[in-house]
Amino acid sequence: MSCRKTYRPETALIHDGTSRSQFGETSEALYMTQGFIYETAEQAERRFLNEEPGYSYSRYANPTVTIFEERMAALEGAEAAQATATGMAAVTAALVAQVKAGDHIVAARAMFGSNRNVITDLLARFGVTSTLVDGRDINAWKAAVRPETKVFFLESPANPTLEIIDIQAVADIAHAAGATLTVDNVFATPLFQKPLKLGADCVVYSATKHIDGQGRCLGGVILGTRTFIEETIWPFVRLTGPTISPFNAWVLLKGLETLAVRVERQSQNAARVADALAAHPKIKRIVYPGRADHPQADLIRQQMSGHSTMIGLEVKGGRAEAFRFLNALKLIRISNNLGDAKSIITHPATTTHMSFKPEEREVLGISEGFLRLSIGLEHFEDQIEDIVQALEAI
Ligand SMILES: *Cc1c(COP(=O)(O)O)cnc(C)c1O
Repeated sequence: MSCRKTYRPETALIHDGTSRSQFGETSEALYMTQGFIYETAEQAERRFLNEEPGYSYSRYANPTVTIFEERMAALEGAEAAQATATGMAAVTAALVAQVKAGDHIVAARAMFGSNRNVITDLLARFGVTSTLVDGRDINAWKAAVRPETKVFFLESPANPTLEIIDIQAVADIAHAAGATLTVDNVFATPLFQKPLKLGADCVVYSATKHIDGQGRCLGGVILGTRTFIEETIWPFVRLTGPTISPFNAWVLLKGLETLAVRVERQSQNAARVADALAAHPKIKRIVYPGRADHPQADLIRQQMSGHSTMIGLEVKGGRAEAFRFLNALKLIRISNNLGDAKSIITHPATTTHMSFKPEEREVLGISEGFLRLSIGLEHFEDQIEDIVQALEAI
């Protein structure tokens, strides 16, 4: 594979990693098998000693999963990838595999609720401490460093506030401190931002989101150097088993084939919806990474090659008004997934970010009137009409 041509993303998404069986199938083969047969006892021994290439057990590796991993690595421009059962399995494995009791993590405060709970609650039970900072404030990252700091973690754009963090600047501080940087790149997608090129050491995805993009299955992936994946991540996954099903890896491969087309159209739609709503009298605030009024529009231009399928919108009023609006939507459905072909909307304060203390939500701008809108593939005029008619219900 080393002499393979490097294709552009649209091409890599369809062809990279393909490894055909003796039947020459067009679509990737689905190897639904737990294990693999050895010709001889000696061969089994060699496989277990890692002296002979080949598969031995699907908790360790599986041919369908390998195609998914190689395609993701090619798309990301990473040396290697490890697929996982969910996005949270990817985040948890990426963090746990890098730390031990006594270590310290610095993370941006604006992040997905479960990510925060893993860092501040789960890891704390095993003696790993953490400091949360305002990720936009570069000096805050510097000030949080301790001698025992091992990992920096951030999301950009963050879920659900669409806050942006200067990945290169944070990577430089992490490296000066002898730490690594892990970036959860779910909101940007591998098409619109390349954290490894900006200095990150590890990138994680929930493949449940845009990569499936059609509401079918959960999945995750961790990317980095070959040494990092093989020596830090793979031994942890192989031992603890947050492994993806070959079936889900196969579904995600089908998702990857259309990822570029979907994400481009969804973000074009999102830009049109954001512009159509920005001046609406019932809306207090629109946050969209493609608009000139995004507070970090310059940084977005600098580190992203596209915008977003996601819109943050705050209705005038509080929870009652937000709920009236949600309940009046007819086309856009209330659901806490994102990146889907179907437009979906969620009220973070009472769902994805309910575990945050009210003061913390306030600091982040996750008010009672704030909604996270994931724009799908419907015609943008139908999306806008549905939102406008529901705003009238407030
Ligand atoms: C959804 C999400 C996750 C978790 O992914 P699952 O596949 O649901 O486990 C992690 N990070 C971000 C930013 C997410 O949006």
